[in-house]
Amino acid sequence: MKPMEVKSPGNATIGQALQRVRERITAAALRAGRKPEEILLIGATKSVPVEVIKVAIQCGLTDIGENYAQEAWAKFQQIGHQVRWHFIGALQTNKAKVVARFCQTIHSLDRLTLAEELSRRAEQNQRVLECLIEVNLGGEATKSGVDRMGVLSLAEKVAKLPSLRLVGLMTIPPYHPDAEMSRLFYRELRKLRDRIQDQLGLALPHLSMGMSQDFEVAIEEGATMVRIGTALFGPRPVLVKEVPRR
Ligand SMILES: *Cc1c(COP(=O)(O)O)cnc(C)c1O
Repeated sequence: MKPMEVKSPGNATIGQALQRVRERITAAALRAGRKPEEILLIGATKSVPVEVIKVAIQCGLTDIGENYAQEAWAKFQQIGHQVRWHFIGALQTNKAKVVARFCQTIHSLDRLTLAEELSRRAEQNQRVLECLIEVNLGGEATKSGVDRMGVLSLAEKVAKLPSLRLVGLMTIPPYHPDAEMSRLFYRELRKLRDRIQDQLGLALPHLSMGMSQDFEVAIEEGATMVRIGTALFGPRPVLVKEVPRR
């Protein structure tokens, strides 16, 4: 299959959608006085078939983010290390074993028991996993993530685990069709990161924030990783469960 044959939103091809998203990332970065290369585009590929992901990789996508351990592992079998794998969904402790084998970065660390298990499994595989602590700033019961009061204490403990490298924070704000409604959440995440960096004397370079609908706002507020699904691959089937419970 040639890259240009797979369709994405608005009938654009995947290649065109990718280019368009990159242009928007660049414009947002420049608007904020930032360097566009500071921002990593992660394709959020839950429910996206392997063939489509492969086209996106041919078109230059370097990083993909998956939400379900089993789905991610099955796709990894077919795609391998041509891309970097990010885990962005709620993670059950008993799935740490799977993701520790092949993921580079876990964005959804939200409790010490999970961190300890990830570190143990990473060590068994002689790997070090990059981790971001997920913060539930909207206080939504349906979303995972530690609440703002718990971040410092979790960060302090995670930073001591031998096979994890804490690199930053992640958040998913409450959904709102107006992207501006995400701005204060993203700003708060950045301030929280700054404070924890100071208090722990630890470098936390990454802020994983921004999705299809609000990534430009996230970049203006300091995002270094944006996780984008719909704007690259089109709408997902409605049957896909967006927020798995543990
Ligand atoms: C699905 C998902 C995304 C991407 O969402 P879009 O709105 O389709 O861009 C980003 N982050 C997480 C954690 C997701 O589950």
